[in-house]
Amino acid sequence: MVPNDAPITNALSFDIEDWFHMVEIDAVADSSQWPNLPSLVERYTEWIIETVTNANVQATFFVLGWVAERYPKLVKLMVDHGHEVATHSYWHRKVYELTPDDFHDDLRRSIAVIEDAGGKPVRGFRAPSFSITPGSEWAFDVLHDVGLEYDASLFPAPRGHGGYPCPMEAHAFTKAPSGRPLPELPMSVMRIGTLRIPFSGGGYLRLLPGGLIRHGFNQLNRAGIPVVVYLHPRDFAADCPRVPMPLKRRFKCYVGLAGTKDKLRMLLDRYQFDTCAAVLGLNETPPDTYATETAR
Ligand SMILES: [Zn+2]
Repeated sequence: MVPNDAPITNALSFDIEDWFHMVEIDAVADSSQWPNLPSLVERYTEWIIETVTNANVQATFFVLGWVAERYPKLVKLMVDHGHEVATHSYWHRKVYELTPDDFHDDLRRSIAVIEDAGGKPVRGFRAPSFSITPGSEWAFDVLHDVGLEYDASLFPAPRGHGGYPCPMEAHAFTKAPSGRPLPELPMSVMRIGTLRIPFSGGGYLRLLPGGLIRHGFNQLNRAGIPVVVYLHPRDFAADCPRVPMPLKRRFKCYVGLAGTKDKLRMLLDRYQFDTCAAVLGLNETPPDTYATETAR
């Protein structure tokens, strides 16, 4: 056991979807074919739950409604082991391509199936591909309307399907058309010179060497900022089916799969983690109080 570099509690999260839910890959775009494809979500999610639970850590699982409906026992397993279950939408469609009504319906359906499976209220949301971008602030009013208490979708650096200019740390998001504030836990980026570099999730975490990941943790934790880790079951799946895609995307999708288990174990050994709701302080403080206190 290595001592913690700083006594900050970071957020550990997993986006629970199958390998064929990757966005904008033509070979898996037809959702009517999803039930016929080989699945890896159950096997790798069970490994994640076991690994995190054995480390005495509670994590947040942003579950796709489509997955919760087909594998309700997975959701129950998360809840039974004390983890937080949140929503990653039902169909994994990018928010900025939806109408507010379609987003509302998708989100309601996802919450219903996840709550049915887990028996606990869903409080948080993460957008597929971090797809709340400038112009789709209306999504925050939909989150309010369906009764959610926080968002973890904003990515404070440019990226393929997302990116939103916002503070790097947890804050109250106040740009919804109605002006209602909602607690926001954005993805983590470290500063290198003038750049904001993601390091703590998905392809970034798989690609970067351990030393650079620890540098990011230390930089943020020393500034008092919790790091948000996000991984998918497919990030651990060296046997993930390969489908045709552009070379650059293929590299990002498949690089470093074999080493992700060790990286997760390294993080669990070295740093403190809890759920997104806990890191936002929502388990102790009513959300309205939180939003008011942290508005800046
Ligand atoms: Zn996703």
